[in-house]
Amino acid sequence: MSETTVSDLTRPSRLPLNTPHRFYRGGTRILDFRGLDVPADFDDHRPEDWLASTTRLFAEGGGGVTVLDDGTTLPDALAADPDHWLGPDHVAAHGVEPGLLTKLLDAGERLPVHSHPDRAFAAAHLDCDHGKTEAWIVLDAEPGACVWLGFRDELPADELAELVEAQDDRLLEALNRIEVSPGDALLVPGGQPHAIGEGVFVLELQEPTDLSVMLEHRRFGLEEAHAFLGLTVPRALESVDRGPLTADGLAALRRRWTDVSGSGHALPEQAAEFFRAEVLSSTTGSPVSGAAAFAVVVAVDGQGLLTTGSDAPRTTEVARGDVLLVPHGAGDVRVEGELTVIRCMPSV
Ligand SMILES: [Zn+2]
Repeated sequence: MSETTVSDLTRPSRLPLNTPHRFYRGGTRILDFRGLDVPADFDDHRPEDWLASTTRLFAEGGGGVTVLDDGTTLPDALAADPDHWLGPDHVAAHGVEPGLLTKLLDAGERLPVHSHPDRAFAAAHLDCDHGKTEAWIVLDAEPGACVWLGFRDELPADELAELVEAQDDRLLEALNRIEVSPGDALLVPGGQPHAIGEGVFVLELQEPTDLSVMLEHRRFGLEEAHAFLGLTVPRALESVDRGPLTADGLAALRRRWTDVSGSGHALPEQAAEFFRAEVLSSTTGSPVSGAAAFAVVVAVDGQGLLTTGSDAPRTTEVARGDVLLVPHGAGDVRVEGELTVIRCMPSV
């Protein structure tokens, strides 16, 4: 096959910055990671970079959908050639929808305690096929930085309602506090209350919705209609897992993605129902390969070459901070050099 007959679609494309305005601070670690300067007039409320997004913000002005370099929105591009982008098996099983939202998230301040509905609740009360199970792959963290996940002890429904009404520190104090460092990975099942602490920078995988129950909202200036998804407060609180999330339960949700040598999963097994995050690392000196898939490829360490396809291979120079969108039709992926990437992919 000659160069000229190969569609540009077989080439991984670099994803532009896509940082909608949010109610909380952050964003400089995203620019730093991507090798971009922080402008003097930087709006420090751009803490999330939505990568290959087909999802719109629930509030805060909409936005969020990825626009590719040629001006096409990602949903339009997918609709024009679904089998190429997503692969025929994915399209047959899930339709023209990746079923995945990937983000870089820089917590410039502690995020409010919140939770996301699971699939059953979203289907029953929000007319939505997806809940929002999410996962955090910690790329960087200030020393001593932490996250919070799940109630340590079971919280009766009336106590949860009381704490949400009071809007004081007791909500945060009731959660498991977990110190994190680069290399940590955590799965956050739908329903589990959580918060990310200041100074934590994560690669985040989520089901493709922006549905959040903001248990803490007053100090962040969020309106109640936004905080509870337009539901009554008691109904919204039914979506919250009141625990307990025990030490064993927590351990099952954690993994060290930096323990992967060659290729392997960044996330615990139970993530596979929702999405996949595959580490490909050639730092041991040998090239490492992964099977064809629609993927957001984030280079998290070192530099090297990423090659797609075998008939007419395409090679791209890649270094930490590069973010690429690779269609299924680009073929198998090979990484070589001193390079570690994480491939964020839909579930199979
Ligand atoms: Zn969340």
